[in-house]
Amino acid sequence: MAISLDIARDNPNAQTVTVPAAALQPGEDKPTLIGLSREELGEALGTIGVPQKQWRMRASQLWHWFYVRGVSDFAQMTNIAKDLRQKLDDAFTIARPEIVSEQISVDGTRKWLFRFPARGAGRPVEVETVYIPEEGRGTLCVSSQVGCTLTCTFCHTGTQKMVRNLTAEEILSQILIARDRLGDFPNADTPQGAIVPSEGRLVTNIVMMGMGEPLYNFDNVKKALLIASDGDGLSLSKRRITLSTSGVVPEIFRTGDEIGCMLAISLHAVNDELRDVLVPINKKWNLKALLDACRNYPGLSNAKRITFEYVMLKGINDSNQDALDLVRLLKGIPAKINLIPFNPWPGTDYECSDWERIEEFADIVNRAGYASPIRTPRGRDIFAACGQLKSASERMRKKERDAMAAQG
Ligand code: SAH
Ligand code: SF4
Repeated sequence: MAISLDIARDNPNAQTVTVPAAALQPGEDKPTLIGLSREELGEALGTIGVPQKQWRMRASQLWHWFYVRGVSDFAQMTNIAKDLRQKLDDAFTIARPEIVSEQISVDGTRKWLFRFPARGAGRPVEVETVYIPEEGRGTLCVSSQVGCTLTCTFCHTGTQKMVRNLTAEEILSQILIARDRLGDFPNADTPQGAIVPSEGRLVTNIVMMGMGEPLYNFDNVKKALLIASDGDGLSLSKRRITLSTSGVVPEIFRTGDEIGCMLAISLHAVNDELRDVLVPINKKWNLKALLDACRNYPGLSNAKRITFEYVMLKGINDSNQDALDLVRLLKGIPAKINLIPFNPWPGTDYECSDWERIEEFADIVNRAGYASPIRTPRGRDIFAACGQLKSASERMRKKERDAMAAQG
């Protein structure tokens, strides 16, 4: 059965693609090998009788099939003997999770809704992932959680209760399936008419800017990003992986030290009074604590700057004084400033600043030496722009979970 879900809102030209049935088969209930470290892979092989002296070699072989060739079926692993392939298939899965829908914006942006198993949350969960093609690059916006514990008042995800953290496998799977669907693996075909970079790889950049707060799921995000940047696998440069946080101060140093990716901070306000409202985590770690953590970000230099994201909200944070304060606040920190036109969602009271206001604000920021700071909204017609992601997944109440368990 093929499922498609049409949630394109404003633009009749946006398409919803029906995904072929074969791509929809969820993995059976076997443990996955995707998202394991090489050591864990070796140990998993030990459980099906592979002698320890072969673990390293076998783990490298599998790694290559998973992350360079993009294979999601053991049968395709031609340099592994048939009986071992069979044993692997009996014990483990490397199948992709289910794709519920794929929507394509008139500007080429793609949004997928993926379904992952319940893992204790009661029922299967759904998350969104967005692909943004540009000249010379393709950026994948990856989710780290289903819902979010935080409640930033301008963010649609913030209205969805936190359901659960995604596992390292689920974070990586978003990259793997996007590459499947775009034909971004060796010998794969890109769908006809797809808007993608004209040469080179189709997914060149990863931003952890989908649903959820990545630093509240540090271990899984770290594991996934270390695999994504592994030079013998997906091989994405750490300079092209950006993690965005609302300001989980205690984890910021570790992000640079243990993951080594680029950092983006959802700033959005230049004083604590307003930031307490827009980004409530500010009540726990205020601007001073946040900016101190930024100054200490490992590897920070003019060649490795922190991106400060600033959503433009009409009449709230968009005055010339705010722009001047922004520049003053960031003085001395190697920074890029990214002004994000507010993307509206059903039920929000905020409005996007007028275009002239954004330009005047940007001029002040520009004159202080920050280049081209306005982020072009993408995929608005399919509701895929920053802060518009929200899935229908809800945590089941305990009573419902118990009832489901009782049904077997
Ligand atoms: N939780 C993380 C990452 C996900 S949000 C964080 O908050 O940083 C990615 C970016 O989109 C953040 O800067 C967020 O503040 C911004 N954003 C959220 N809602 C938005 C909206 N409606 N319009 C524009 N940007 C939004
Ligand atoms: Fe969560 Fe980020 Fe949205 Fe805030 S902006 S509610 S931290 S996803």
